[in-house]
Amino acid sequence: MERTTCCVVGGGPAGMVLGLLLARSGVDVTVLEKHGDFLRDFRGDTVHPTTLQLLDDLGLAERFAALPQRRIQQVRLPIGPGGELFTFGDFGLLPIKYNYIAMVPQWDFLDLLAAEGAREPHFTLRMNTEAVGLIRERGRVNGVRYRTADGTTGTVKTDKDGKTEAEAKISNKAVEDAKKSSEAVKVPTEVKAGKDSNSAPTVKVELPKNAGETKIEIPVSNVNSGTVAVIVHEDGTEEIVKNSKPTEDGVQLTVDGNTVVKIIDNSKDFIDTRNHWSRDEVNFVASRDIFNGVGNNLFGVSQPMTRGMVNTVLARLAGIDTTPKNGQKWYEVGTEWAKSKGITDGTNPEASVTREQLATLLYRFYGSPAISGTLRFADAGAVSAYAQDALLWATQNGIMNGVGNNCVAPSADAQRAQVAAMMARYLKNAD
Ligand SMILES: Cc1cc2nc3c(=O)[nH]c(=O)nc-3n(C[C@H](O)[C@H](O)[C@H](O)COP(=O)(O)OP(=O)(O)OC[C@H]3O[C@@H](n4cnc5c(N)ncnc54)[C@H](O)[C@@H]3O)c2cc1C
Repeated sequence: MERTTCCVVGGGPAGMVLGLLLARSGVDVTVLEKHGDFLRDFRGDTVHPTTLQLLDDLGLAERFAALPQRRIQQVRLPIGPGGELFTFGDFGLLPIKYNYIAMVPQWDFLDLLAAEGAREPHFTLRMNTEAVGLIRERGRVNGVRYRTADGTTGTVKTDKDGKTEAEAKISNKAVEDAKKSSEAVKVPTEVKAGKDSNSAPTVKVELPKNAGETKIEIPVSNVNSGTVAVIVHEDGTEEIVKNSKPTEDGVQLTVDGNTVVKIIDNSKDFIDTRNHWSRDEVNFVASRDIFNGVGNNLFGVSQPMTRGMVNTVLARLAGIDTTPKNGQKWYEVGTEWAKSKGITDGTNPEASVTREQLATLLYRFYGSPAISGTLRFADAGAVSAYAQDALLWATQNGIMNGVGNNCVAPSADAQRAQVAAMMARYLKNAD
């Protein structure tokens, strides 16, 4: 990574303001706060004139003024036998802009700073994360060891070149909780995807023994449809996880046992998808090496796709090496594999694939799940009998959309962009 990473321990007023200042200056900063929210013990509520001026300097005056508050200008106390009020201090006399004390609970103030930080691309706040030790290397502190509320622990450190290595030891409780709610276990470490394997951050995830296959989510600050997880095998080889999915805050993938993952922004910039509806979906499949371009930096959005191409794509998705051997045609390995799995009968591999054939191939690849309902498209009557369930499944699950005028165009040829979009939606929907 080409950036300095700074870890601030403690999301109190000092830590939050420091984090905000660093982030605004372009420094990637992570603030660790051991509590789950700011609503804890009473921490006072008087915000003094100098602090108000500071907030103004930070451009936060307007948002601070919008918080519910009481303003105090004079401090008066009853003294003397008659209890007459005596003014001890009058801020109104001061020649300053904010000549009063604002009464605002500290948690409202911290919530404001957190919201302000969330607007900054370089700012990360990790709640429920307690720093439990420092990491020292060659006499220098370059990382922090932390623990989250469910007992998960981790470290985050940055080497002298600014490259990040993170480690997380996921607790039993975190895995159990996530599995119970069918959610992914959130790895408590955020990284920024690198442009290639050399600059990419490495995340080591340690799962409890017997956790089995576990869905995890690695938070990524600059995630997009081309962000991929790459497994680093013990022999050092690297493998793109084809069904790793970008989420709102990171990348999700399923792992079995302890895993080392690199996070790479493998986005492809094809000339013909830059302003095309399929841009994100094409980027998703191309960055995962499921599709290649057609040369000259083009994806070939409107070009037809053959059945052999689809068989090959599905075989690659299943982890099959589709390299042809001994004079085979380029699509033969994939087609033989698809045939052996009952996905295709293998006929006409060089013919263009129609939309209903494509839906059928994907449906069978998915294991032909039971389906109920009726196709509601105006041209539903034109759908071949064998493709009825597949089209129902594909449209019900948002994998295939209509083509306009409430038509699904079952026998129209599927173009490369349409196939890419279906594959992307399919992978994003699949568990
Ligand atoms: C009862 C009381 C009333 C007060 N009234 C006022 C007032 O009216 N006006 C005023 O200006 N000041 C008041 N103060 C003082 C004010 O609260 C402090 O000056 C201010 O909170 C200090 O900010 P800080 O960020 O340095 O530390 P703190 O506010 O103490 O913040 C430190 C943060 O670090 C977190 N933390 C600690 N250890 C770890 C760890 N290992 N890993 C992760 N997170 C960790 C804590 O949970 C905490 O959120 C009051 C203080 C108290 C106790």
